[in-house]
Amino acid sequence: MSTSQSELLAQANHILVSQGVLDAFGHVSVRSESDPNRFLLARNMAPALVAASDVQDFDLDGNTGDDRKPYLERYIHSEIYRARPDVLAVVHSHSPAVIPFGVTEAPLRPVFHMAGFLSGGVARFEIADIGGDGTDLLIRDPGLGVALAAALGDAPMALMRGHGSVTVAGSLPLAVYRAIYAEKNAALQRDAISLGTVRYLTEQEGHSAATTNAGQVGRAWDMWLRTAETPHDR
Ligand SMILES: [Zn+2]
Repeated sequence: MSTSQSELLAQANHILVSQGVLDAFGHVSVRSESDPNRFLLARNMAPALVAASDVQDFDLDGNTGDDRKPYLERYIHSEIYRARPDVLAVVHSHSPAVIPFGVTEAPLRPVFHMAGFLSGGVARFEIADIGGDGTDLLIRDPGLGVALAAALGDAPMALMRGHGSVTVAGSLPLAVYRAIYAEKNAALQRDAISLGTVRYLTEQEGHSAATTNAGQVGRAWDMWLRTAETPHDR
């Protein structure tokens, strides 16, 4: 396990809490630099309190040799890493502005350039299709993880009806960026819809903006980290 990856993962947890994506729940993981068939994820705890020493490593079956209690929903991460070799980081959250888009027919679409990555469309996961009526909505076994990964397909994000969402990317900072801007876009889209007919970014505009923004993620990460780790902002 790389110490620096664990440190970055702890920072990602703090940033996502500070930016309103995670609260006492939700989690973020990163694929291991040393073994692509393993990933790093904090132990079962509130994201704001995660330190590098709380990070566990897992195989793609969601198993760890660490005897501390893991997150129940680690199969979200394990099965997406198995299905998507291009994915190097995964954020699972219940961020509030996104929830309404998971329970209605309203498509989540980019209303500003910062969310251009949404222009190709987001996936939808319906847990009742595999779990039937009466699940607790959680991805609590590998079979549900496989179904979620299949629903995600090649998309950067999947809405999980009545639960939350999952956001993926080819780097940890970009996955964090996408989770933050998906939440911001959802709130702005809701506001725009209330004003009238919305003119969304076209698919080509979204693609162009996403390409530009992917080169700027480091600047955002540095600011988010400073904000997250300044005591008066906690
Ligand atoms: Zn969840």
